[in-house]
Amino acid sequence: MTGVLTARPRGTTDILPPRSEQWRTLEERFREVCRIWGYPEIILPLFEHAELFQRTVGEATDIVEKELYSFPDRGGRLLALRPEGTAPAARAYLENGLHKGPQPVKLSYVGPMFRYERPQAGRYRQHTQLGIEVFGAAEPAADAEVILVAVEVLRREGLEGLSVRLNSIGCAGCRPAYRETLRHWLHPLLPGLCADCRSRYGRNPLRTLDCKIERCRQALGQAPRTLDALCDECREHFQEVQGRLEGLGLPVTIHPDLVRGLDYYTRTVFEVMHDDLEPSLCGGGRYDGLVEVLGGPPTPAVGFGMGLERVLDLAKTQGRSTRPDLFLAAADEEARPRVFALAVEARRAGLATHFDFGGRSLKAQMKAASRLGVRFSVVLGQRELETGVAVLKNMDSGAESEAPIAGLAGAIGEQRGPTS
Ligand SMILES: [Zn+2]
Ligand SMILES: [Zn+2]
Repeated sequence: MTGVLTARPRGTTDILPPRSEQWRTLEERFREVCRIWGYPEIILPLFEHAELFQRTVGEATDIVEKELYSFPDRGGRLLALRPEGTAPAARAYLENGLHKGPQPVKLSYVGPMFRYERPQAGRYRQHTQLGIEVFGAAEPAADAEVILVAVEVLRREGLEGLSVRLNSIGCAGCRPAYRETLRHWLHPLLPGLCADCRSRYGRNPLRTLDCKIERCRQALGQAPRTLDALCDECREHFQEVQGRLEGLGLPVTIHPDLVRGLDYYTRTVFEVMHDDLEPSLCGGGRYDGLVEVLGGPPTPAVGFGMGLERVLDLAKTQGRSTRPDLFLAAADEEARPRVFALAVEARRAGLATHFDFGGRSLKAQMKAASRLGVRFSVVLGQRELETGVAVLKNMDSGAESEAPIAGLAGAIGEQRGPTS
């Protein structure tokens, strides 16, 4: 089978059971952490005006330059499938007047993001992000809390060996001077850098620091560090974030090459790593300038985004048990209508129930029952219909007991015990 009708678009994936169950369990646990830590969910559109991303994430980033799914709609508006959640959350914060209410405003979101990436292992053009944002809080405690939420989510998935990479990239006050220092330092190295870095030099020199190309990494190893250029306020802020995390025994390492190059990103930048392996499970930081870029008041803010698929791969999250409770088999054709009605009744009573739609022999039905891994089975035939009593078989122990057909659901519920 080759045509487009039997092939999904590149970079997308189908989530089949039982992975889909694990997926939902992970989402539920994320929502549970957000509930406890005080981050109610905001449900945002999957597409926005392309300009939202061009004006915010846009400048000199791959996300918008190369990877944005943008398209004109039938009304001629330029729209884009969202590549990330922070800009839409900030847009919603302003559009819905949340900036006028009590601060801070803490929000979480879950959903697909779209990036036209080169397909490769672990990279999807549609991937799912779990994220949180805090608007209206400048305090280091907010940064520390956001990082701790990320760690908490990952810990609940049983991931050990978590560590936090931390850096500060300064503020509107101290960064311009740093940027000039870096430019001067970079200038003689330019001929040896990659084409991307040469173009970043003019527009956004900080982004050369996190270039993934080996010759750039080597050339930039001794570059001046943002941390050495922080103003007093930024330095204090950074030390306090670090102190809060270390006070809780969280392994924190300073990574001077961790940057976010856009002007509205400020101060804290972080990644959460598993066994120190690339890529990170979660990345985030402070973006005190973003709301203002969208036309709102100066609003300090901090947040993270976490890739669900990658966490799922590492965590081997267990889904809820999908083991069915009951298989109802028909010994003959006359019993089938009763089996059908009884299956409906059992399901309404909360029992996960299977039966054969028709046609299969009793032997084939029992084979299906064991393939499904049901806990109990019942065979209905002429005798059972006449006496109103059926034999309930425990498929694990083989034990059999008689139960009135009318009270079957109750009898199984009792023997099964509470569901996990
Ligand atoms: Zn500063
Ligand atoms: Zn480079």
